[in-house]
Amino acid sequence: MKAVMYHYVREFDSSLPNFKFLDVSNFRKQLNFFDQNYGFVTKEEWDSFTLLGKMPNVLGKVILTFDDAMSCHYDYVFHELKERGLWGIFYVPTLPYSKSKLLDVHRIHLLCGAFDGVSLLKEAMSLLSGDMIPDSKRREFRDETYSNQSNNESISEFKKLLNYYISYDFRESTIDNIGKVFNYKFIPNKFYISEVNLKEMSDYGMIIGSHTVNHPVMSKLNLLEQFYEINASFDSLIKMGVCKEKTYCHPYGGFLSFDSNTINLLNKHNVLYSFNLESREIVANDFNKSKQFLPRFDCNLFDNGQVS
Ligand SMILES: [Zn+2]
Repeated sequence: MKAVMYHYVREFDSSLPNFKFLDVSNFRKQLNFFDQNYGFVTKEEWDSFTLLGKMPNVLGKVILTFDDAMSCHYDYVFHELKERGLWGIFYVPTLPYSKSKLLDVHRIHLLCGAFDGVSLLKEAMSLLSGDMIPDSKRREFRDETYSNQSNNESISEFKKLLNYYISYDFRESTIDNIGKVFNYKFIPNKFYISEVNLKEMSDYGMIIGSHTVNHPVMSKLNLLEQFYEINASFDSLIKMGVCKEKTYCHPYGGFLSFDSNTINLLNKHNVLYSFNLESREIVANDFNKSKQFLPRFDCNLFDNGQVS
């Protein structure tokens, strides 16, 4: 089985000229490609695997997953899946529902969509001082060059700086300050799927899972902080009436984004399965060995999945 991960699936917005997203028309083409070449895992087949470890009779079929609860997942994706009689798993960070705030990870995407990377990186570097980088990351931070001239390289360094290097104590205020310098207003309203629409998706048969509260790099957090992220996010989903089965997805993904505390907590919370980011198929052995970090491909590894 191939689990495939999507983020933004939308149409061009002239207020965000540099925003990276998968165009809806390419999303449709990719679904056609999957349909013609692999087919899709049914919900019944997926239940047989997650509950009993039984693989579908036909190997290599596709499972669709969507991260971060952006409103485009209701506006475009839900509509498209319904038309085709497909189902998907949607991973939701719950802070936007409990505090109606934009997550820092998405404020970074918006800044990168609205402005050029070279200016953003320059501003971030001028606002950062060495004491804002935790000891464990300082050496790696100093070894980075931060002198790249290309826009794309500057964007990825800007993201790395604010998602990975900076201590979370300073991140929110640093992003606030960058927003002020560029005179950018962050508007949380309409960025995420509304609670009513999330409930509609869940009632229709889509699976809604936890993607923490704040979307942190979990391996940067201690046990207590990680407990909060998992426990409180499931509480919110249960309160909203959208938690039909307990499933979780590691923010950012990759084996460095979580640690053994994360896996122990997921097991203690009786989470049925979790997704990681690792470019390989789900095999029978994963039922016993990798249930809390099932592999998942980025959609850009298949035809028509490139973001632009
Ligand atoms: Zn995410």
